[in-house]
Amino acid sequence: MRFPDYFRNAAKPVISFEVFPPKTDKAFESLKTILPELLALHPSFMTVTYGAMGTTQARTLEIAALIKREYKLETASHLTCVGASRTQLDEILANLARHEIHNIVALRGDPPAGQDEFKPPPDGLAHANELVAHIRGWCERTGHPRFGIAVAGYPEKHVQAPDLAADLRNLKRKVDTGADVVVTQLFFDNADFFRFVDDARKLGITQPIVPGLLPIQSGKQIQRIASLCGSKLPEPLLKELQAAGEDDERCTQIGIEWCAIQVKELLAKGAPGVHFYVLNKARHMREIMARIA
Ligand code: FAD
Repeated sequence: MRFPDYFRNAAKPVISFEVFPPKTDKAFESLKTILPELLALHPSFMTVTYGAMGTTQARTLEIAALIKREYKLETASHLTCVGASRTQLDEILANLARHEIHNIVALRGDPPAGQDEFKPPPDGLAHANELVAHIRGWCERTGHPRFGIAVAGYPEKHVQAPDLAADLRNLKRKVDTGADVVVTQLFFDNADFFRFVDDARKLGITQPIVPGLLPIQSGKQIQRIASLCGSKLPEPLLKELQAAGEDDERCTQIGIEWCAIQVKELLAKGAPGVHFYVLNKARHMREIMARIA
């Protein structure tokens, strides 16, 4: 199945999980033991992120193909413009097609470590809308059936965008070029998501917009991630996390509570589903899924 199939006339919310390809063999083996636990929670599909460079890129495909082959669950591979020429992107697309991966989360990617600004690689692409166009063009050239394509949306704006309006216009370019669905950056205040969806609809974006949520597992870690992503932690949540300090078990419980409350409100107010950044762990997801059942 492709992304649009999940959201068309869906009888229940579309729940998806995102995992990342581990850097070490040990962590990779550990992920393999966690996958069955995540799959037991019955997500509609899973996505696998794409590293900046090197071995984790090959692992993206390996994990996406493994989930599909061993567990018969549909997967999406993330793909970025980082470090790849158009020819290399074509090779990656052919590889995805060969492994029957039907869905792609198409992204620009972040600048490689040590660089402040994103510079398109030689004969490469500068923005995610160009990647969406490239994927669509490749399918036309090769006669491959359309990939399902998701793109990123930013309820609190992308960190490099001058303002929310400019960022939304750039999101519109991505969907106008052929993206099927928008998955958002993590956020902790649902008001940001609802305003973002309203603004997107006013601009003529009609595709499903799926909230992306990251359940907190550590106070320190979330403050670092949130600041990198430009996502704010609401004052009451921040206070709770500060009181918990380095007690990760307490932070995880706070994260579970907060996330479950967010999910319930999002779904009650019409979100088509939720995409969870599970950070390759299952226990907290079991608790969240039980609370939102
Ligand atoms: P773009 O849509 O290209 O936007 C980047 C910036 O440029 C924005 O400020 C935008 O407003 C602006 N812009 C967009 N198009 C244009 C244009 N045509 N002209 C001028 N300005 C433009 N990163 C990874 O490395 N690997 C992953 O697997 C990964 N998965 C992610 C999944 C999700 C759901 C999300 C939300 C993010 C993910 N990221 C991932 C992070 C992402 O790569 C970064 O946020 C990156 O900085 C921007 O990617 P983008 O696709 O949004 O880029």
